[in-house]
Amino acid sequence: MDKRIYLCLAHMSGNEMAYIQEAFDTNWVVPLGPNVNGFEADLEHFVNDIQGNASYELNKKVVALSAGTAAVHLALLACGVGPGDEVLVQSFTFCASSHPVTYLGATPVFVDSEPETWNMSPELLERAIVDRMTATGKKPKAIVPVYLYGMPARIEDICAIADKYDIPVIEDAAEGLGSRYDGRVCGTFGRYGVLSFNGNKMITTSGGGALICPDEEAKQEIMFYATQAREAYPYYQHEKIGYNYRMSNICAGIGRGQMTVLDEHIAHHKRLQALYKDLLEGTEGITLHENPSTRQDSNFWLVTILLDENLHVKGEEHAYETTVKGAVGGAAGVTHVTTQPHTDCEPNRNVEAMRIALDTAGIESRPLWKPMHLQPVYRYNPHYTDGTAESLFKRGLCLPSGPCVMEEDVAYIVQTIKENIIE
Ligand SMILES: *Cc1c(COP(=O)(O)O)cnc(C)c1O
Repeated sequence: MDKRIYLCLAHMSGNEMAYIQEAFDTNWVVPLGPNVNGFEADLEHFVNDIQGNASYELNKKVVALSAGTAAVHLALLACGVGPGDEVLVQSFTFCASSHPVTYLGATPVFVDSEPETWNMSPELLERAIVDRMTATGKKPKAIVPVYLYGMPARIEDICAIADKYDIPVIEDAAEGLGSRYDGRVCGTFGRYGVLSFNGNKMITTSGGGALICPDEEAKQEIMFYATQAREAYPYYQHEKIGYNYRMSNICAGIGRGQMTVLDEHIAHHKRLQALYKDLLEGTEGITLHENPSTRQDSNFWLVTILLDENLHVKGEEHAYETTVKGAVGGAAGVTHVTTQPHTDCEPNRNVEAMRIALDTAGIESRPLWKPMHLQPVYRYNPHYTDGTAESLFKRGLCLPSGPCVMEEDVAYIVQTIKENIIE
């Protein structure tokens, strides 16, 4: 095979250029304009749609921003997070769930996952709330559960606990666009919901994000902070610190084009998941991560597997002998060079051997995200953990599942996995 198969690459619908051309023709090449408004309207329509016969209606508002990370930052700000505060964040996540907490001078306190959805454990969440109140004398300012790899968290249980202690929930649905819990779009359960349109997400605007807001008033407040907090005077007047976080009208044009294929993309990811399930059936030592109940309807942004620690993979005795060179300066944006092949917590040897075997066969795969409480940058942060995320991290791999991955690619990937298992 001379083609390389990537995890999840952006895929254009063909409708993007018309929206971008319109922005040029009408001279709206700025961080506001008709495409931004149109994209927000499309997103509002999408997130407010409930599948099945719901007895309620949703009327969420959406603000388009320059990144998902900016959306997390502004949601925290709107929840009143400031210096000295604590925020409870799912540990098993990408760093953008927790880094903005530190931008505000607050401390992320990490909560472990439960093994069914791999997302925030409601039990550990409640333990953390009670213990933080005892330790600090005040309540955590917000709770940030995540829809990791698209999988819906136990969001109803999480929101019930948040309500009991009156703490706002910010759902990080950056990976979960179009995932549903009980037919309702993930990101619409808490006070705020974060979306990302980075290049590798379910849809892309090249770079971008959005914040799902509870109502028009909250949307207006987020827009105020996203546009340098300008007061209504003929001159620049500032009473608050703001940010330059609005989405550009060009990026929003890409977003409008992408919205025309969002449903198709989601269906494609689900089809690939089903195909992986079929083809991996009966492969001993490999477990596919699936919807744990009918309440969860994952978008399967990334298909993920666990390798049993007793599974033997060809070449595992040589795993970690060399440092990673490929990502340096490449698509992953890793610019730091390391001389150490090891850290104090890394995936098992069989996982690394499988990653290398797939890479050699032209297939990109990636270990599961390393939990934040195990990251050196957060080594002094409090955490409420029981080993679940750490154990998943050591055993897991993400497999290609984007719109450019074809059904024959999945067959080739599964065949390569099987060929590298030592019976
Ligand atoms: C991608 C991602 C983000 C951040 O989105 P950007 O648009 O890249 O800033 C936040 N949280 C999670 C879980 C993500 O995967």
